[in-house]
Parts: sequence; C-alpha cells; structure tokens
Amino acid sequence: MKAEIIAIGSELTCGARLDTNSQWLSRELEGRGWTVQRHTTVADDRDAMVRIYQEAAQRSHVVLITGGLGPTLDDITRETLAEAFDQKLVEDTPSLQHIEALFQSRGREMPERNKVQALRPEFSTSIHNANGTAPGILMKLDNPPCTIAVMPGVPAEMRSMFREQVVESLPTSDVVTRRSVLKTFGYGESDAERLLGDLTARGRNPEVGITASQAVISLSITARAGSVDECELLTAAVREQILNRLGDAVYGEGDAELHDVLVADLLRRDLTLALLESSTTGGLLGQWFTETENHASRLAFSQLYPSAASFSDPELDWEAALRNRSADLLHAGAADFVLASSPAALVTNDKGVPMQQGRVIVVGKELDVSQDVSMTGNLAIFRQRAARTAANLLRLYLLHAAK
Ligand code: AMP
Ligand code: MG
Repeated sequence: MKAEIIAIGSELTCGARLDTNSQWLSRELEGRGWTVQRHTTVADDRDAMVRIYQEAAQRSHVVLITGGLGPTLDDITRETLAEAFDQKLVEDTPSLQHIEALFQSRGREMPERNKVQALRPEFSTSIHNANGTAPGILMKLDNPPCTIAVMPGVPAEMRSMFREQVVESLPTSDVVTRRSVLKTFGYGESDAERLLGDLTARGRNPEVGITASQAVISLSITARAGSVDECELLTAAVREQILNRLGDAVYGEGDAELHDVLVADLLRRDLTLALLESSTTGGLLGQWFTETENHASRLAFSQLYPSAASFSDPELDWEAALRNRSADLLHAGAADFVLASSPAALVTNDKGVPMQQGRVIVVGKELDVSQDVSMTGNLAIFRQRAARTAANLLRLYLLHAAK
C-alpha cells in the first residue's frame, strides 16, 4: 500500500523554511503500515500543483498534502485541487460558520478574504480544524482508488488534524510496519556495509538501512508483515545477526547516545569521571556530562584547558602533562576515571589536505588507553568523533571489566 506526501509553499522551495511536516507525516504513516515512497515539495505555482496532484493520485493509494490553505492570494491549494480533478468549488456551510464563530470569539469581524477558506471541491468533504481557521479537505477518488487528505501547513494544526480526523478516514493498510534502530560506533559506513553485506541488500524483509551522522552509524531494521508479532520475530532474527557481526560496536537502540549509555553504566557501578579537555573535544564532553542531573552526578571534576602549559611545567609535552594531572586527580580520589583530550592542531596531511590532529586519553587506576583521532573534515565533526571515541573507550573497558 503506497503513500506519498506533498508539501506546498514557496517559502519551502526557496529555502526560507524547512519542510518538517513531511517528515512527521512519514513517521506516522510508516507506523501504521504504509510505505511512503515519495515526498514532493512544490512552490505556490498553479500548473506545478495541478500536475503533481494528478500524478500522485495515479501512483499512490494515499496522498497527504499540507500547506496552501490560508486566506491569502498565494494560497491556492483548494482551487488547484478542484482544477486537477475537474470539479467546481463550492462553499461548505459548516466550515463558514466555524470560521465566522472563530473570529467572533476573538472579538473581530471576519475579513471578506477568509470566506475562501470555506470553499472545497464539490466531491470532497471538509475536515474540521479545531485549532485554526483553515479546514482541511478529504477527497476519495475511484479510478484508481486514492484517498487525498489536505491539511493546513501550520505544523501544530496539521498534527492534531491528522491524528484526530484524517487517520480514521484512511483505508486500513493490510501490512504492519515496525522499525527499530541499532546505534553503533567505531566502524565507518563502508566497514559496516562490508560486515553486514547480504543483510543490507534491497528488497529483503526486514530491510536494513545504514546511515551515518556525527560519527555514529545507525542501522535501521524495517520489518513488514501481517501482524506486530510477525514483525517482531523477523526483527529479532536480524538483530541477532547484526549483533553477532558487529559485536561491541553496537552500543544502544533508538535515540540512545553513547554518553547516555556510559552514564547509565557509571551509575550502576557508582563510578565517577573527571574531564580534562582541550580543543580536540573543546568542552563537548563537559556539555554531555552535565545534560541531566544523572549525567552531572557522574561528573566529579572538569577542566577546559587551552594548552598543557596551563597546568604544568611548560617544558612537558601535553601528553606527559595530562598523565601527571590525571594521576594526581586519581590519587587524590577526585574521580575513578579521567577522560582527556589534547590541544588540536590544524595540519596538512601527506596528500596536501588540511586535517585536524588530536588524541584522546582515558585513564583509571588500572587503565591507560589513548587513541589518535586525527581526521580530515570540519572541526565540529572532528570534535563529535573525538568525544565519542573517549566515551567509547571507557564504555568498552567497563563492558569487558564486567565479564
Ligand atoms: P500555509 O498553510 O501555506 O498558509 O502555511 C502556514 C504556515 O505553516 C507558514 O508559516 C508555513 O511556513 C508553515 N508551513 C507550511 N508548510 C510547512 C511544512 N511542510 N513544514 C513546516 N512548516 C510549514
Ligand atoms: Mg503557503
């Protein structure tokens, strides 16, 4: 059962505003078993809009449209919808009464222009808008069968209209879709692809998708079946295979962040951290480990230092200086572990490409590991990856210490 989503508005196509409606609607539809195959963003342009509706109705069973229902001259979704399917526009009396009542309740007279918001194509029904003046439009076409629902562009109005009214008007999908996500750190995207190989082939059920963001590789497992139980069985089998192949690189599920997983482990073991950060992580660890009271409860000490000279003999290199400082902190019982990062340096690598050079160190009473985190690319990604590498070194140590 195929669905598609059309976002309307020149403010979207010119880049002034991001289309968040389509993302939200896709998640809702996928959760209800629909496969969303296409997003289209189109300017407030009559011909383009007419053509897009006609094409969408030919290829999809459900078409959700948002935007262009305002009272202003640039909002032409109503009239283009009527034109696309050869229908007249008619006035919807209950909608007009609702709009008038809304203005009255605000102590204002309804401007003449708002009357157009009560218009709808003749073979359609209006969808009540409990949160604004723009009613939605529901149109069911027979040949081929297609349900079109038009909702206001304002995200809050669109969301409640979709959940409270549009959902019940959609045909029920004969499949259930369940998506779950495994988060991994430590592999590149192509390494993950190589290790997972056959699992990521298209057309499989469940389908495994790989996406990389801020040095984290997310593996989404999408199962489609006749029931939730079947989906869960299919997902469990693939999950098992992924865990076998990627092992400890899988650190969590869903929205889990690496530092959240580490904090949970530190809480369980009643252990604390100290941070000694320079520009390689640039305070990112400090931000993460103060996000909630739980996070902050694990942070015993934190220092952001511009260079090794700031707390030691200027003759010592930063690594020796950091190790001394870490040893002092551990010795004084200030914390159980120290996560430290070096000052970063912008250098040119042997291929003449600029790269950020840096290192992270993790020290504990029985632990001393460090990792080079140098990479080409921008400073923000370098820091994200460096900070996650430090957190991950400690996560892995604790994982193995437990075994
Ligand atoms: P409209 O229904 O076209 O009058 O849009 C009303 C408001 O909703 C405007 O501020 C738009 O920028 C916003 N809006 C319209 N479409 C979207 C969309 N797809 N995603 C997020 N905001 C939107
Ligand atoms: Mg608009």
